[in-house]
Amino acid sequence: MASDAHLAVQGLGKAYGPPGHRVEALRDVTFHLPPAKVLGVLGPSGCGKTTLLRCLAGLEEPDGGEIRLGERVLWSKEKGIRLPPERREVGMVFQSYAIWPHMTVLENVAFPLRVRGLSEREVRQRVGQVLEMVRLTGLENRPATDLSGGQQQRVALARALVAQPRLLLFDEPLSNLDAQLREATLLELRAFLRDLGITAVYVTHDRAEALTVADHILVMREGRVVAQGTPEEVYFQAQDPFVVGFVGRVNLMEGRLLAWEPQGRARVELAFGVWSCTGPGALPEGARVLVAVRPEHFQPRGEGNPLLGRVVSVAFIGEGYRLEVAPREGPPIRVDLRVVDLPRAPQVGDALELRVAPAWCRVLLPS
Ligand code: ATP
Repeated sequence: MASDAHLAVQGLGKAYGPPGHRVEALRDVTFHLPPAKVLGVLGPSGCGKTTLLRCLAGLEEPDGGEIRLGERVLWSKEKGIRLPPERREVGMVFQSYAIWPHMTVLENVAFPLRVRGLSEREVRQRVGQVLEMVRLTGLENRPATDLSGGQQQRVALARALVAQPRLLLFDEPLSNLDAQLREATLLELRAFLRDLGITAVYVTHDRAEALTVADHILVMREGRVVAQGTPEEVYFQAQDPFVVGFVGRVNLMEGRLLAWEPQGRARVELAFGVWSCTGPGALPEGARVLVAVRPEHFQPRGEGNPLLGRVVSVAFIGEGYRLEVAPREGPPIRVDLRVVDLPRAPQVGDALELRVAPAWCRVLLPS
């Protein structure tokens, strides 16, 4: 069932509402997703994620731009092409699963094939295949509502797969599951999508979910794409403070760029001292900047920039401690330390000397 279809979206725009009260849900959205890859679309509520999915599925009419799946144009303003949803070869899995409670597992999954008028023999064969893929074999005759949340989610997936789509769309598919089941199902879904090799777009507002499931990430804000790349690129190299903060916990510390050093390092004056940081070379000396450091990049020993301060709060999170450390000057800094790196549990009031390597201290331009 591997998909050979790449997804290319060019200049997609969509506004709602009457003139004067227009909401621009999508503004010039452009991206390219290679075949058999998963795109994670991430962004705050109202940034246009669902609108994008609905445009891809054909449930919403864009105002401009083009959508191509493989060699086929699904929608193009310029070319006047508007393929209806049923001709797009696109499957969708929703947050609510939208499975039918009065039907059995088999009836739910068979439904898209029966409406197309396939023979009963063919229906049984294809349904059998996908149920095996999603590990629901043996539950064919169960009423769908007798299943666990995770199993219901797999029925929805099976129903989307049975039509053999070239593109699968997921809209927050795990948000109805509890945290533990969500994590397990997410890893399972990721392995499943990789094995299957199907092109997919996965919308979520949960950053960990997007980073886990996706090969490529698109971060949206107010209808625009503000960052795209692999999960690592977006997490470690994004330049926009909004993106850096949206994809993970971070300290954004105000500072002033003092000078450039060899190896592209920048000396930055912060409230509590001068640090050596990594930055884009184009910034002028004297510029007001932000230095971004993720809490997990501090270490209790080693080389690097020093952070001396007192612990003002401690939260135990299992694998480690989430601390706030107040330096001599300036706001408290968020620090995550692993249990295995500490001689004992930190306490409020402890004086700590931590280190962070210049490579993890990134200079950004304030937005
Ligand atoms: P969430 O994460 O909350 O689901 P989202 O990122 O999916 O949000 P969209 O549902 O795509 O965002 O909405 C984008 C913008 O378009 C929002 O400002 C929303 O209020 C607006 N919008 C969406 N659908 C309509 C509609 N049918 N009529 C008018 N405005 C709409």
